[in-house]
Amino acid sequence: PADLFPGRSNSQGHDLSQTGTLAAIETARAPLAAGLLPEASPLVAGDCAPMAAEEVKNPATGEVVGLVRPASAADIEAALGNARPWQADAAARAAVLNRAADLYEENYGQIFAVIAREAGKNLPDAVAEIREAVDFLRYYASQTSEDTTPRGVFTCISPWNFPLAIFTGQIAAALAAGNAVLAKPAEQTPIIAALAVRLMHLAGVPREALQLLPGDGPTVGARLTSDPRVNGVCFTGGTDTAQAIRRAMVQAMDPGAPLIAETGGMNAMIVDSTALPEQAVRDILASSFQSAGQRCSALRCLYVQDEIAPHLTEMLFGAMDELRIGNPWDLNTDVGPVIDAEAEATIRAHIAKARAEGRVLKEMDLPEGLTGHFVAPTVIRIDSIADLEREIFGPVLHVATFDAEDLPKVIEAINATGYGLTFGLHSRIDNRVQEVTEALNVGNLYINRNQIGAVVGSQPFGGEGLSGTGPKAGGPEYVARFAQPQAKPHRP
Ligand code: NAP
Repeated sequence: PADLFPGRSNSQGHDLSQTGTLAAIETARAPLAAGLLPEASPLVAGDCAPMAAEEVKNPATGEVVGLVRPASAADIEAALGNARPWQADAAARAAVLNRAADLYEENYGQIFAVIAREAGKNLPDAVAEIREAVDFLRYYASQTSEDTTPRGVFTCISPWNFPLAIFTGQIAAALAAGNAVLAKPAEQTPIIAALAVRLMHLAGVPREALQLLPGDGPTVGARLTSDPRVNGVCFTGGTDTAQAIRRAMVQAMDPGAPLIAETGGMNAMIVDSTALPEQAVRDILASSFQSAGQRCSALRCLYVQDEIAPHLTEMLFGAMDELRIGNPWDLNTDVGPVIDAEAEATIRAHIAKARAEGRVLKEMDLPEGLTGHFVAPTVIRIDSIADLEREIFGPVLHVATFDAEDLPKVIEAINATGYGLTFGLHSRIDNRVQEVTEALNVGNLYINRNQIGAVVGSQPFGGEGLSGTGPKAGGPEYVARFAQPQAKPHRP
């Protein structure tokens, strides 16, 4: 119950204009000494026999920033055999999760360093990510309850694009409900996951209630989602992967085992002729290119009313010229690298096809001397969102125009994608806001602002249709889904 923790508030984060914050980051960014690379190995309550070490590379530079030892079949078996739900009452679980939040804040310099090195996040993104992770821990701590029982063992599978916040949020919710967790981070970001699990153990989460199993999806992830000893799965990632996991669970698990999935999006924004152009441009830029477009909430398809389209796109292209593409460590970097060579190749192939068809409206130049997986922010003309075959997970914005009379058709086309994650509307007509809000099937709808960066506890986040199963992360129903309701004897 919320009154267990009156006064819960979100993390204040770290102010990058403060010298103390910058000093900690400076220390953390010092080159990694040879022989002292951080390692991510399975953290299992029992004997471990992990596979040979593999290198983890910085997407901005190609530098080796750590070693990962993927979990072997024996490690997975040991983790499944030793997993035990957390035998502590609700208040004690909450206290430990709050302690973990404190430890995240106390270790921010080290966490910054790993997120920036391993995931290529720029500093503002890294600050926001640590804040969100801390907020998840404290918010889910406030949701522990004596009125539910844990489901048992939860597998938590997370993506690389929020390697700390989503990884932590899934685990914190499952633990808040008292479950045992088997956590598999994305293969690109195991080092931050290992640091997070160590901090949670240090805070007091028992080892048999939280075990880490690094490795790739098709081997480690697939095993952890197709074993009858698992009682539920929490997954964030691509829609196709969620569908594969659902099929595996149906074959192997109790029919009641829940899949809590947060998946991809085909997110649109509509800007009508009454919008404030300066505000719309700022919000389009943030929604499309912040985090190099590698957010599930990012804007993929912008619809601009035809009469303002020439003016708005001219302003947008001018604003894009001010974006700085570069190394995440530089304080003035707006757009960092994409996660790896495969992502870079996929996004570049999409842009190359559009270029060959004469549909590229704007493509920035990459600065000289960058060695990592950088893709320049690009704008592509399309006729309709229906032209997009799939989510392009990078700094690519698609733009279509519409006539005011055709607005219902635009809404129909957005709904027809089957996805429903985020949507943005820039308009100063109240009736239109009302009409669009009622007609669209999306999880998070943003009016006259950007469409990224939901705040835990204030803006629960999650999609509809192909974008997720619900309940929304960071919202009041989330932890309950990880638990079984319990009937209490009535005492008059
Ligand atoms: P992904 O390829 O689906 O991978 C997500 C996780 O699933 C990774 O840990 C992956 O492991 C694992 N995995 C892959 N195949 C698996 C299998 N057969 N069984 C079990 N696990 C398996 O997605 P991604 O490329 O990492 O992330 C980008 C996607 O996530 C985008 O579609 C984005 O929109 C979505 N996303 C959604 C939200 C949201 O809240 N709705 C938030 C963030 C991201 P490996 O990578 O190690 O192989």
